[in-house]
Amino acid sequence: MKNIRIVLVNTSHPGNIGATARAMKNMGLDQLYLVAPKLFPSDEATSRSSGAVDILEGAIVVNSLEEAISDCQLVIGTSARERHIPWPLVDPKQAAEMAHAEQLATAFVFGREDRGLTNEELQRCHYHVHIPSVESFSSLNLGAAVQVIAYELRMHFLAQKGQTVTKKWDVPVASVEQFEYMLEHLERVLVDTEFLDPNAPRQVMTRFRRLYQRAQLDQQEVGMLRGMFSAVDKLVAGATIESAIQKKDR
Ligand code: SAH
Repeated sequence: MKNIRIVLVNTSHPGNIGATARAMKNMGLDQLYLVAPKLFPSDEATSRSSGAVDILEGAIVVNSLEEAISDCQLVIGTSARERHIPWPLVDPKQAAEMAHAEQLATAFVFGREDRGLTNEELQRCHYHVHIPSVESFSSLNLGAAVQVIAYELRMHFLAQKGQTVTKKWDVPVASVEQFEYMLEHLERVLVDTEFLDPNAPRQVMTRFRRLYQRAQLDQQEVGMLRGMFSAVDKLVAGATIESAIQKKDR
């Protein structure tokens, strides 16, 4: 995500710069611009970055927003509040899509902790992005706002590479055939134990099917169930032989 930079304007709390660096590194961003930060570098930023010091060391400190965005092609400003003259508004997901779509040099601009971005600063942005917080308490902590945007950028980046949540499982999922044998085995056991009356089966097997299908059993789990059914088979067979012997003895 080399085409994307994070710009923090006039940050007062160095801790938020550290939190930003951490969020960026977690999500694969590395271009940080700081517009006239109150205090930087600082121990607090370093400590809050939790090891993302390379991002802090690489941060470019400038005096004006202008300098931070002049070589960008797309500028997206973040704001917790609606403004008097509304600007084209997007949500974080749409903003992430835009940032990736044409690989334009893109800046995400974040405001001051106490006052956000001025109207003039926001008007320099092509789009505004609002994280849909509740209206009566809409302002996120600066570091948290960066985290949300960075996360959406990451999700979109992974989706493009076809790498969103890959299911990893240690054992292959059971095939239909393995599943059907297991279910037939279950049915035999249920009949043998007289749980199921073959003359009045009702929907019992359908409901068992639905239950086990919902579990998306793997091959080992099917094997375990079948092992358990065999153990029941054995007990039932033992009990049947015993009662036959008893009858003979009578
Ligand atoms: N009191 C300020 C909020 C500052 S929060 C105001 O009313 O604007 C610090 C920064 O975090 C904001 O400037 C913005 O960049 C970001 N931020 C916080 N909440 C946000 C939200 N809901 N949507 C988008 N950005 C947000």
